Amino acid sequence: MTSFCVAALDRAPKTAGGDGATAGVVTVMGRPWRLRSSWRAHAEQARNDRIILRMGDVSMGTITSTLNYLPDRYVELSDAELDERIQQAKAKLGSRVVILGHHYQRDEVVKFADFRGDSLKLSRLAASRKEAEYIVFCGVHFMAESADILRDEHQLVVLPDLNAGCSMADMADGDQVEVCWEEIAGVSDSTVVPVTYINSTAVIKAFVGRNGGAVCTSSNAQKVMAWAFSRGEKGLFIPDEHLGRNTGYRMGIPLDEMVVWDPHQEMGGLSEEAIRRARVILWKGNCSVHQRFLPQHVKKVRENHPGIRVIAHPECRWDVCQLADDVGSTEFIIKRVTEGSPGSQWAIGTEIHLVKRLAKENPDRTVISLDDCGCLCSTMYRISPQHLCWTLESLVEGQVVNRVRVEDETRRWARVALDRMLEIV
Ligand code: SF4
Repeated sequence: MTSFCVAALDRAPKTAGGDGATAGVVTVMGRPWRLRSSWRAHAEQARNDRIILRMGDVSMGTITSTLNYLPDRYVELSDAELDERIQQAKAKLGSRVVILGHHYQRDEVVKFADFRGDSLKLSRLAASRKEAEYIVFCGVHFMAESADILRDEHQLVVLPDLNAGCSMADMADGDQVEVCWEEIAGVSDSTVVPVTYINSTAVIKAFVGRNGGAVCTSSNAQKVMAWAFSRGEKGLFIPDEHLGRNTGYRMGIPLDEMVVWDPHQEMGGLSEEAIRRARVILWKGNCSVHQRFLPQHVKKVRENHPGIRVIAHPECRWDVCQLADDVGSTEFIIKRVTEGSPGSQWAIGTEIHLVKRLAKENPDRTVISLDDCGCLCSTMYRISPQHLCWTLESLVEGQVVNRVRVEDETRRWARVALDRMLEIV
């Protein structure tokens, strides 16, 4: 076994042209590796043509994963060959594997999923499939972490491409949140209850669990925030500024009582007085996909399609949500469209794969994206049929590649935060 080190990568510069989900490139044995900004990495072993990197979150606990590269032989396969081999591997594994496909996943991957859904629904489903030893999550990294937090002891979670991160989750790292927490406590006597959106790393969920808070989803954010206000005077909402603001506003909290904490500025860029007055402190984070929808898109789609109904995901900006007819989670969007009458028209402010699938599955309705340029989650898109084929065939051979495993202590506290949410809703 050969051991060698790769320099620590935290705070590494973003890759040129990257979307923020990956940041920092390192070359090991002549191959480029893209790693997330919050991770340190060192190559631990090199054996034959396989490299195993152990990566740990720099702020708390250690999240370990193995990062292997897709063997070249998978790149050369045709679509038909890939389909056939994925089906064969899946059949060989039988009930030992459960494949989960997030709504934003591309069609050529999601068609192999045993279940489709949002991240929480999928994680809970996987945990309920006790016979499945392997949970293959076709989603992004924080989703695989959530599945690992909720899984049974005999199960393990695989993310077909470990580069499939989430730009929003990466906007809050553990160190930054600890600093924010201490600085708020230094200027305010109020009890602050932290709430984190499920689209956050396990480290952030664990922070929230340790500090008396809870996780929320886009469908239950209002209930969780109401719970937070029953326990304290202020809420710290991480990491999506827009979901936090949209939720607070729906609860009747004026905009000027919600302030934005910018982790890259001293004291979050806020005055002590602003922190003391605020009822909600919003983390400065956003989804690069949903933030692209703008008020002018709503105006334009209404001009071009008189009578169309606009639905926005609550990760969209506040002014877009104000103009929309409905605001809701992916499950809400699917329900509204499928329960809509034939001939109805819908403009949807969410990821393009879900919008296109809804259009295909509801041919008697008009379903279009709110922005006709299309809004793609490029990190989710990294999960390819090639990666799915490789991970499944490796499992057939008894090899686990791209496992996501949350370190025990982090897992324990993250579970506390998730369980609190499940008790609230
Ligand atoms: S759509 Fe946005 S929040 Fe969802 S995984 Fe992609 S980047 Fe993250």
